[in-house]
Amino acid sequence: MSGASLTAAAPASDQPRGSAGVTALRDLSPTIREITLRADRAFACPPGSHIRVAVNGAGREDYRSYSVVEQAGDLLRIAVKRQPLSRGGSAFMWRLQPGDTVRMTPPRCDFPLTLGAPHYLLLAGGVGITPPNNAPSAARR
Ligand SMILES: Cc1cc2nc3c(=O)[nH]c(=O)nc-3n(C[C@H](O)[C@H](O)[C@H](O)COP(=O)(O)OP(=O)(O)OC[C@H]3O[C@@H](n4cnc5c(N)ncnc54)[C@H](O)[C@@H]3O)c2cc1C
Repeated sequence: MSGASLTAAAPASDQPRGSAGVTALRDLSPTIREITLRADRAFACPPGSHIRVAVNGAGREDYRSYSVVEQAGDLLRIAVKRQPLSRGGSAFMWRLQPGDTVRMTPPRCDFPLTLGAPHYLLLAGGVGITPPNNAPSAARR
């Protein structure tokens, strides 16, 4: 794939305003890697939240979104699928090592879970499991 970047510049409000250190990596499958980050502050992070991470692609800074699969205080877990045809975002994430620092936005929730429904049906496939990952435990509470 060409090195040209296709992503429009992120709006100012969506640009990284914080940082996080990589504390652990775990391969969940041959193509999905869990990355544990310790952010520079603690967050409230409802199910369906994602962070935007600054990635260095095609010679300039670019941004990619990753759903928060688990969070406690300043610790966040994301899971990143390695894309073979990629402008570089997932490859950048897969190059991260414990001790590295990334720049990121605070979590933002575009898929809020409505609490109080009598029943829930959550459907997800592949790495798409990441947004609703912590919805069942939130719905049970
Ligand atoms: C809210 C949100 C949450 C997300 N959460 C996650 C998550 O939890 N985990 C995760 O792994 N990803 C998640 N993503 C996707 C993630 O942001 C990145 O898009 C992903 O990592 C791929 O980035 P990339 O730069 O490697 O690949 P990209 O260059 O963005 O390419 C992605 C795929 O698009 C196709 N593609 C790219 N360019 C072209 C082209 N010119 N023509 C045709 N096809 C093309 C290719 O098949 C490629 O595999 C999320 C996205 C959003 C918006």
